[in-house]
Amino acid sequence: MASWRGRVFSLSLEAAFRLGVFDLARLLHAQSLTVLNYHRIDHFDSPDFDLFRPNVSAAPETFAQQMDYLRARYNVISIGHLAAWLRREAALPPRAALITFDDGYADNLTHAFPILKARHLPAVIFLTTGFLETSRPFYWDWVAYCFHHTRRDAVFLPLLGERRWNEPKERDRVMRAWIETLKTLPDERKNALIAELPALLDVSIPEERFSGLYLTWEQVRAMRREGIEFGSHTVSHPILTRIPLEQVRQELVESRRKIEQETGHPVISLAYPNGQAADFSPAVAEAARQAGFLLAFSLLPGPTRYQTVRRSPFTVRRIYIGNTDTLPRFAAKLSGLARLSSVV
Ligand SMILES: [Zn+2]
Repeated sequence: MASWRGRVFSLSLEAAFRLGVFDLARLLHAQSLTVLNYHRIDHFDSPDFDLFRPNVSAAPETFAQQMDYLRARYNVISIGHLAAWLRREAALPPRAALITFDDGYADNLTHAFPILKARHLPAVIFLTTGFLETSRPFYWDWVAYCFHHTRRDAVFLPLLGERRWNEPKERDRVMRAWIETLKTLPDERKNALIAELPALLDVSIPEERFSGLYLTWEQVRAMRREGIEFGSHTVSHPILTRIPLEQVRQELVESRRKIEQETGHPVISLAYPNGQAADFSPAVAEAARQAGFLLAFSLLPGPTRYQTVRRSPFTVRRIYIGNTDTLPRFAAKLSGLARLSSVV
């Protein structure tokens, strides 16, 4: 987008925010469930932040502002409450909202949890169980680390070819393009390709660089005692429509069993890895139902009407929060108006 158009757009977003346009839109959604999706909460703008920045949803201060905005306008509920409503054992308040986190990074405890706790807000964290208590990184963090630390200004990347950059911004674009390409590959092929990257970029990775990046089971149990709930984000984070159905079943059953065993609480919810329209299907949803889940969440934007949640509990929408979201933009996304515009 041309920058003058961007400026005009964010000015009108700001004006709409001040005029209360999003509050009006929100009133139309009194009978809708608003689910927020976060990943990491961290200081992503520090120059020495060397992992995948787009996976940081907000800095802690911004997250606190967003929680204040949410608490003042919505009724934040737990996933247990939502499940009780599905079973017709409880009613939902108007404008119910649910706070969710994907992947299971340790900053959910160190940065997000104190902010939630101070405001008495429940949340659910979807764990990728195969990564907890390992020093194995998600491929996006591994790739970001290599690009951050390279002194090279060009690389020949498998699948993309020769790429050059003059400044960190351009280098980050190359990194993101490669990650998008990797996303769709089977694990084995992806792992083989990323294993070559340190040599291609002339970077060495310290042995324990990625340990402590995720929650431990002890931390999960401690948060559970404080009212944070946990759901499944599979064992190994595959895109479920790209693996055989038998493997889908294993990913779902095994992650659910592991979290139940570690926490002693039933696991009722699932977040589809990547969560876009192509990343789940009726067959995947049916596998989730058979694996014992009551609810599954996508990353298709917007609130979902209560009656739609009841009719289709395996395709509940979530609003993806990104680290470029200003408060007006955050408000526009929550109001559902953002779905009308592809720019937000
Ligand atoms: Zn994820």
